[in-house]
Amino acid sequence: MTTFNDFGLHADINRALAAKDYTQPTPIQTQAIPPLMKGRDLCGIAQTGTGKTAGFSLPSIHHLLTYPHRANPRSCRMLVLAPTRELAAQIAQSCRDYGRFTKLSVSTVFGGVPINKQIRDLSGGVDILVATPGRLLDLIDQRALRLDDVEIFVLDEADQMMDMGFIHSLRRIAKLLPSRRQNLFFSATMPKEIAHLAEQFLEDPVTVSVTPAATTVEKISQYSTFVEQKEKQALLHSVIASEDIDRALIFTRTKHGADRVVRHLAGAGIKAMAIHGNKSQSQRTHALQAFRSGDIKLLVATDIAARGIDVSGVSHVINFEIPNVPEQYVHRIGRTARAGAEGKAISFIAPDERPYMRDIERVTRSKSEPMPLPENFNELVRNLPKPAQPPRDTGSQGRNPQRQREDALRGRDAGKPRGDRGPRRDGAPAGEGAEGQRKRRFRPRNKSVGAHKGAVKRVG
Ligand code: AMP
Repeated sequence: MTTFNDFGLHADINRALAAKDYTQPTPIQTQAIPPLMKGRDLCGIAQTGTGKTAGFSLPSIHHLLTYPHRANPRSCRMLVLAPTRELAAQIAQSCRDYGRFTKLSVSTVFGGVPINKQIRDLSGGVDILVATPGRLLDLIDQRALRLDDVEIFVLDEADQMMDMGFIHSLRRIAKLLPSRRQNLFFSATMPKEIAHLAEQFLEDPVTVSVTPAATTVEKISQYSTFVEQKEKQALLHSVIASEDIDRALIFTRTKHGADRVVRHLAGAGIKAMAIHGNKSQSQRTHALQAFRSGDIKLLVATDIAARGIDVSGVSHVINFEIPNVPEQYVHRIGRTARAGAEGKAISFIAPDERPYMRDIERVTRSKSEPMPLPENFNELVRNLPKPAQPPRDTGSQGRNPQRQREDALRGRDAGKPRGDRGPRRDGAPAGEGAEGQRKRRFRPRNKSVGAHKGAVKRVG
């Protein structure tokens, strides 16, 4: 059996792993770390929860330590792009954890917070920079950052990047990267369009794939209840009262839907918070912390906001609305049953959502068990407490132009029923469809690039 010692990672990394009590690499780590240590490009098909962050950050930190030199001012040696602020913050934290016995610097930049501090953070140069695409480009435009020194480039959650309309930003960023670099590309799903995108980034990559959708789904007990859309709030109250919930993630399709659920629960004296693209960064961080710490048991989320979030101990995922792309369902319910724990997914299916559920069952090759409405359901519906009044500041922002841009990109697709976005049954993002058909070329390939291009460039 492979152990972390077999990888030949720098001693400071092994110390950090011991401090985190990691004894055994996860399957993606076992597959990805050896080729990455050799400087190969990598295409990883894996979702959050598989240990992919350590899979890419451990060998990268090893590289940065093995070829030590100070990052140049306003430059970084490793760039990780993530679609959301939460995921960026989470990745940066993992890099800090794994690099805690080293002097490597880690910075995060994302929209929704003042840019000046980020400009200052970058002025002296950083080793590892984790960024969302929009803010990264703003910093580049303000001459606070250059990408010519990037030795390792990681694109995480590529499928979500496409869903969020980041393709143009990615293209611009790719043009600014040096041609000699190591590339890592991760996506939870690999429909044709994403594979095509990967092709343009990667050079002779090793492909690794873990937890195919069906396996993840198998570990989770799935239930579904047929209910009218307007009676879903009452059903939610009933489920919360009857289930033994440690932590539940409740998914809605829209941001307003998420707020409405929170207000309905508040009306009944049940504490919950919402996390979605209209919330300020501090509200999102606060909600996530409260959920992680157990202060609140219920977090209501839209798909985009929740993707990539790693919270342990989620006992229930409640699909208040059914996603119309089966892969999204897999992402959602994958938030529970982490690390072999038992998980339960409950889906509320309105009449017009039945076809979506049929698609989901076909794709996941699984069937959810019917969960009947409670006997006193009509009474519950009649006596449903009134929702709490919306607070004066609902957390919507958008005052900052950068944020508005990132929100606009997100908002264009986020929350809209798939039907509104055009027919996409292949899991690929709407709006990028035609574009995906065209041959894209990000940058001229340097075919003679060898192992660990950064190392070759700097040390050789
Ligand atoms: P990720 O998929 O990178 O978001 O990781 C999911 C979770 O697994 C994180 O909480 C990591 O800290 C944890 N993790 C990653 N690798 C290991 C490992 N080898 N052993 C135990 N936990 C791990």
